[in-house]
Amino acid sequence: METRIGFGWDSHAFKAGVPLRIGGLTLDHPEGLAGHSDGDVLLHAITDALLGAVAAGDIGNFFPPGDPRWKDADSAIFLKLAMEELDHAGFRIVNIDTTLVLAAPKIAPVAGEMRARVADLLGIDLDQVSIKAKTPEGLGLDHVVQCHAVVLLERVLEPDELKSMSAVIESQRQLEDVVEDLLSSVHGVPKKRVVDPVYDTEDIT
Ligand code: MG
Repeated sequence: METRIGFGWDSHAFKAGVPLRIGGLTLDHPEGLAGHSDGDVLLHAITDALLGAVAAGDIGNFFPPGDPRWKDADSAIFLKLAMEELDHAGFRIVNIDTTLVLAAPKIAPVAGEMRARVADLLGIDLDQVSIKAKTPEGLGLDHVVQCHAVVLLERVLEPDELKSMSAVIESQRQLEDVVEDLLSSVHGVPKKRVVDPVYDTEDIT
């Protein structure tokens, strides 16, 4: 059985006046996280882990932070795009393990609900998702939330089987169609082409 591992990391600073979104949930807290999207640090880290596991780049490749389409976007969109990449590569998730690093709020009381939400978004079972949290002792980073994520994948389609699927997604343009469909399904945003996708190393998604 061919397996692959992926690692993702993300951080966002706290910001007043926005809801705190972590793991697809809105948490009760005085501040949210700054970001071009909804700032969901956990979903961003998982997205990068999934993309990394199939060597498909990172979240910035697909969702440039300067693109107005992703302003305040639900980060579930990013996760769904990463799952499309996994399907295309012929892999599925074995398990995901994550660690949030934050001073507040406490994650333990909502970790179960958060695991269920992430498992639902990924279409996997609850016991395939682990969400842990630690405080940033000694780091002086109480104003920031960080997240580390690792994912293990296993192959479900052999390369010759994938050839028959190559007509499904074989070009960047068709990949854009997948993105547009996801965006339309989540936000009802009219279709609009990205003419020249831009890679930007500044990750504010
Ligand atoms: Mg991010």
